[in-house]
Amino acid sequence: MKLIFLGPPGAGKGTLAGLVAKELGIPQISTGDIFRDAIKRETELGMQVKAIVGRGDLVPDELTVSLVRERLARPDAVKGFILDGFPRTIPQAEALEGFQKLDAVVNFVISDDIVVLRLTGREVCRACGAIYHVRNMPSKVKGVCDRCGGQTYTRDDDKLASITNRLEVYKKQTEPLIDFYRERGLLRDVDSSTTPEDTLEGVRAVLGRKG
Ligand SMILES: [Zn+2]
Repeated sequence: MKLIFLGPPGAGKGTLAGLVAKELGIPQISTGDIFRDAIKRETELGMQVKAIVGRGDLVPDELTVSLVRERLARPDAVKGFILDGFPRTIPQAEALEGFQKLDAVVNFVISDDIVVLRLTGREVCRACGAIYHVRNMPSKVKGVCDRCGGQTYTRDDDKLASITNRLEVYKKQTEPLIDFYRERGLLRDVDSSTTPEDTLEGVRAVLGRKG
């Protein structure tokens, strides 16, 4: 099956993509992995990415699309794949449509409140990097690492303002894509506000597979 997974931060999209890819025996493909792989293999496109990323710039759509196209042509992706984090923009989606037919676009649906609840509360030890969660897995003494006695803190990425901002960016970027694929009859909504197990069941159901 040729699939795209869409979902906001905190929806568990990456984890689900990994599980479903394993179940279907197809690769999970993210642009981050493609970039790293192309740089490692020192392909021509990889060298271009390396230069752009090295300057701190964003990889332009055209180059990203070329790399995705190259990746999808590799033997392991011929029967199917899950694209995780691509396309991000309408021009990318239009380009993809030009060379690849899709079976479905799985859209993970979750409310902002639940995302915020899931993504806030993480604390990291400054000294050893141990990870805690104020609600799910707190350290024994607040602010003190169980493992090494170091100080725990909330990283900037995990602060409410940053999470709210990531959600806004996601919506602005992705809502047009949701409409794009809905118009083509490819969109399959899956509720991802419950457990990973239930969400996986939801994905199986919309893909017409039994658990
Ligand atoms: Zn520690």
